[in-house]
Amino acid sequence: MIVVGAGPAGSTAAFRLATEGARVVVLDRQRFPRDKPCGGGVTVRGARLLPFSIDPVVERVVDRINVTMGHHGPRRDVTAGSPLVYMTQRRRLDHFLIDQAIAAGVDFRDSTRVRAIDIHPGGVRVRTDHGTITAAVLVGADGANGVTRAALGAPEPSYAVALEGNLPRGASGFDDRDYETAALLEFATVPGGYGWIFPKADHTNFGVGGWLSEGPRLRAHLDELCAAHGVTLGDLEHLRGHRLPIRRAGTPIAIPRAVLVGDAAGLVDPFSGDGMYEAFLSSKIAAETITDLLAGEVRDLSGYPERLGAALEPHMAGAWVAKLMIERSPAVMMGILHVPGMTRVVAERMGRVDSDHGPFTRRVARVVGRRARRALGAHAA
Ligand SMILES: Cc1cc2nc3c(=O)[nH]c(=O)nc-3n(C[C@H](O)[C@H](O)[C@H](O)COP(=O)(O)OP(=O)(O)OC[C@H]3O[C@@H](n4cnc5c(N)ncnc54)[C@H](O)[C@@H]3O)c2cc1C
Repeated sequence: MIVVGAGPAGSTAAFRLATEGARVVVLDRQRFPRDKPCGGGVTVRGARLLPFSIDPVVERVVDRINVTMGHHGPRRDVTAGSPLVYMTQRRRLDHFLIDQAIAAGVDFRDSTRVRAIDIHPGGVRVRTDHGTITAAVLVGADGANGVTRAALGAPEPSYAVALEGNLPRGASGFDDRDYETAALLEFATVPGGYGWIFPKADHTNFGVGGWLSEGPRLRAHLDELCAAHGVTLGDLEHLRGHRLPIRRAGTPIAIPRAVLVGDAAGLVDPFSGDGMYEAFLSSKIAAETITDLLAGEVRDLSGYPERLGAALEPHMAGAWVAKLMIERSPAVMMGILHVPGMTRVVAERMGRVDSDHGPFTRRVARVVGRRARRALGAHAA
């Protein structure tokens, strides 16, 4: 079995498959440990999906999210009296995840770029810059800019964009003590997205994300976020941007012997921009489907999209509805957050793993999600 990509989706798929006794090779074009543009926030529901704890690489535990409308607008705290998000750094998290996979028996080959994939009825042939390898099954986990999506014949997803950088702890003008266990999300500042401030061990992460069309203005948006908090853009280190792929409805993510997971499948949450929960969920469902194939319980991997949809469709529909509401009327959204008990509902939602939803719930979710997406116009198409 070949897994292309050793991000959160690929490493956890590989771990699960190796634990089930499969022979797994993971290929990644980068040399590890490597970084990846990301806020590094793993929601509690994301962490709950993992077969092991990520405690060794958690730098801060956020139990309060300060939500604001505009840089200086109305504010509301989302709390549940328990952890909401585990803050880590992708360099550390991804290294830790692939180490778990290696310990489970995975053959990890970093600095190995996949150049071409040839899919044939019996499996796959993968050409890398270090030779060609073959396998019965392929997991495409190579993120937003990978090669597996095209190999499976899936069209381009739509994209959002995000830019982030790190403010060293103790930098003048910013009181990081306010963010020991709290994060900030500023809505109604970037069209199609928001700005964030996330606490880490030795720095604070500032970032902005929004519609793809905001790409040329992301630096200006980040500059404004910084200025609103007493910092200048020049104070941030390691500024990095990246695309966030958002799957178009019904696009293929499986063929008989290959599946796409995580960003390669375009599974980023269109509201939050998070993708790690979806990476962990899709890798779990992909590994279960592949295990069934190896056990002879299914004939091919064509059941994977259906299984994934049962877990993810209502979650994604909710994300599109929330996005529509916040784009159209941030004031109404803020009003909703002021309904007694609502912030607790939101906080609990962040910890809940979506389970198998029945066909009716899924059908309703699909229609509602599609309408919300359509109402958002060309940006969301
Ligand atoms: C600025 C920003 C902030 C974000 N913040 C958050 C956040 O706080 N929380 C959250 O949950 N999500 C966040 N996301 C989204 C999150 O980063 C992604 O959803 C997540 O990384 C997806 O994981 P993945 O394993 O699918 O892909 P990736 O993490 O992108 O991993 C893909 C891997 O494939 C490898 N690869 C690519 N092409 C090839 C090739 N040809 N051959 C071999 N290897 C290849 C790459 O080197 C990489 O290691 C953010 C995204 C951005 C851009």
